[in-house]
Amino acid sequence: MTKPFSPPPRNTLALNQQQAMRYSRQLMLPAMDFRGQEALLASKVLLVGMGGLGCAAAPYLVASGIGSITLVDDDNIDRSNLQRQILYREADIGESKVQQAAASLQALNSDIAINALQQRLTADDLAQLVPQFSLVLDCTDNLATRNAINAACVHAKVPLVSGAAIRFEGQVASFSMQGDGACYHCLSQLFGEQQLTCMEAGILSPVVGVIGSMQALEAVKILAGVGTPLYGKLQLFDALTGKWQQFSLNKDPLCSVCG
Ligand SMILES: [Zn+2]
Repeated sequence: MTKPFSPPPRNTLALNQQQAMRYSRQLMLPAMDFRGQEALLASKVLLVGMGGLGCAAAPYLVASGIGSITLVDDDNIDRSNLQRQILYREADIGESKVQQAAASLQALNSDIAINALQQRLTADDLAQLVPQFSLVLDCTDNLATRNAINAACVHAKVPLVSGAAIRFEGQVASFSMQGDGACYHCLSQLFGEQQLTCMEAGILSPVVGVIGSMQALEAVKILAGVGTPLYGKLQLFDALTGKWQQFSLNKDPLCSVCG
């Protein structure tokens, strides 16, 4: 009697039948295929900042099938957030942003692990947390936190996708944290101390949607190994004209973080 054919042992993160149906429109993309989708499922993303950018990025990460997402924000929902932070409802005012976002995202995809951390991360917290992740999305709105996230990613060599939006403008950049690429600090030190938040300067609602979606796109491409990420590039968006501009970002050999 001949031995029946036995398929090669399957990776524990191989897609089951329901997942293959769910992600079928991504699986049919030749660049993505099962290899890319399974890589997403095996990925762990740390998303810091559940404001406008985080609310735009998170649903696409969750819907795309990223296996595990940890949301971080210490804030509660305020009426003035509803104009652009589209995961929150009027009834959520006063509630925790990460708890409400996690509940909404889990309803979108029960298949993935969603963790909520309601806290402001210190540099020490970040140094402990970041090495546990495949990629970090910076959706925060202040320079001190951005620099702390960047430093933790540089040290742990974890890729970082950074987004920012204010008034009618947005920017996106990705950092591989490998080889001789720039880090976020190589870029941010060019801004000097000049720093405004949406609270002080205002923001047009869909601008955070555009930039947050771009961050999710970058994350999916990097984790699935599809296309060319915005490594070494700064992508600027001007909502008033609808124009995108791209600039090269070079490593500053004297950068105090990565130099
Ligand atoms: Zn640097």
